[in-house]
Amino acid sequence: MNNKTNILVVEDDRQIRKLMSTTLSSNEYSIECACDGGQAIMAISTNKFDIVLLDLGLPDMDGEIVIKKIREWSDIPIIVISARGEDSDKISALDNGADDYLTKPFSIEELMARIRVAQRRLLNKSDGSESVFQNGDLVVDYPAGTAYLKGRELSLTPIEYKLLSLLSRNAGKVLTHTYITDKIWGNSVDSDVASLRVFMASLRKKIEKDTAHPEYIQTHIGTGYRMIIVKK
Ligand code: CA
Repeated sequence: MNNKTNILVVEDDRQIRKLMSTTLSSNEYSIECACDGGQAIMAISTNKFDIVLLDLGLPDMDGEIVIKKIREWSDIPIIVISARGEDSDKISALDNGADDYLTKPFSIEELMARIRVAQRRLLNKSDGSESVFQNGDLVVDYPAGTAYLKGRELSLTPIEYKLLSLLSRNAGKVLTHTYITDKIWGNSVDSDVASLRVFMASLRKKIEKDTAHPEYIQTHIGTGYRMIIVKK
């Protein structure tokens, strides 16, 4: 086995598939392709891949079904590639366990940047039993229910702490508004998204140097939030 990052490209459009595999191969990635959902599931269950790039509109089954099936046994990072106007599909793909999304058309630079983010999650991945999360100057001590920035304890409200803990436990992944409000309030009526914004703003004031250019929590407009894994 080589030590290149192994990427599975799942795309039914031959030209896009070819373009993606050619450009990614020339950038030191090892690429394999699948043309539909069945092939993708088969490939992932029999080979070791590091990242999956998944087109949502596939001929044999919905990309969302592919994600659900993969998530039954694998935590492999999945970056969803969706066509414009498939916003609700994109959101439900994230809710089903995708890590990230890109909307067609996208630049290869953008794609590579997303792959690097997914790679960082891969490197950062633990078995989930770790009790302390560290990311740059930010530390979350789960058993103690406290968080620190540059070694100083943060004074967080219970909701702010829940929010920070949820984002940090899923660092690297885009979490949708519905997912977050569901986990925090146990339901997801529209007003909670407004409350979420308020709590997010107050949390950011406590952890971000510049709330206009957040370093830790990224906003995905109309979609949700992601804890960025800060480069070491
Ligand atoms: Ca397609």
